[in-house]
Amino acid sequence: MPASSPTDATAITVPDTPPIARVRVGKHRALKGETELGRTRRARRINRALAAGYPDAHCELDFTNTLELVVATVLSAQCTDVRVNQVTPALFARYRTAEDYATADEAELQEIIRPTGFYKAKAGHLIGMGRLLVTDYGGEVPSALEDLVRLPGVGRKTAHVVRGNAFGIPGLTVDTHFGRLVRRLKLTEEEDPVKVERVLAKLIEKKEWTMFSHRIIFHGRRVCHARKPACGACFLAPECPSFGLGPVEPDQAAELVTGDNREHLLCLAGLGQPGENEETTGVEKERNDA
Ligand code: SF4
Repeated sequence: MPASSPTDATAITVPDTPPIARVRVGKHRALKGETELGRTRRARRINRALAAGYPDAHCELDFTNTLELVVATVLSAQCTDVRVNQVTPALFARYRTAEDYATADEAELQEIIRPTGFYKAKAGHLIGMGRLLVTDYGGEVPSALEDLVRLPGVGRKTAHVVRGNAFGIPGLTVDTHFGRLVRRLKLTEEEDPVKVERVLAKLIEKKEWTMFSHRIIFHGRRVCHARKPACGACFLAPECPSFGLGPVEPDQAAELVTGDNREHLLCLAGLGQPGENEETTGVEKERNDA
């Protein structure tokens, strides 16, 4: 579905960031201290650059309605979205309503979701969730945070995914990618997800919360990997005090960049030219015109 729409990347410009070739390890000005205003401005520049990098950022779980999104998100705990998407077509064909989950045969449900791991606990969550939706919410998924977190297997992160992507209510989804990236970008030092959410809520405009979350997660999956971030091929390098955490040599770093829009990401980092079929974004246009 998603309810939130991506920002129009052609309208995006990245202000006065130096070319990646001039970025130096350990020299970012934020490392010497940064005012609250400076950090807010940097966070918003990062969001604009991410919007240009990932104009189609979205929830990577497949779903066609709110119940399917909640179920897919519960299954995504400790599991990749790709694996969840392999399982959900059969699951959603068999269980279409909250009532179906409430009355599910536990062994049968476990068997279908087994590939997502922790299948016994997850099956219990889905059955419990179905029952609560039927008894307390007329079989419909509620939109209020306090109602969503009552559902078994649904924490604050899942609730924000559902609110942002099914109801269009802005929310910051602090998962492992999100936490790792905002700490590397020195937007916060907090480890606790609720505290991270609170800090970022002050830095990023509310209407951007959902899309910012998607963009950050996209970047974490494609460029700023947990073990070996592709720093030398990262278009956020001029804004990142952690530049140098991964390889800085461009060719070596470029090898680490993944995803369908890899060429586009490398272009933004100043490595390569826009492809023939690729629309020039505001960022590239600025650089091409310079
Ligand atoms: S890849 Fe490197 S430069 Fe880019 S955001 Fe991650 S740590 Fe910073």
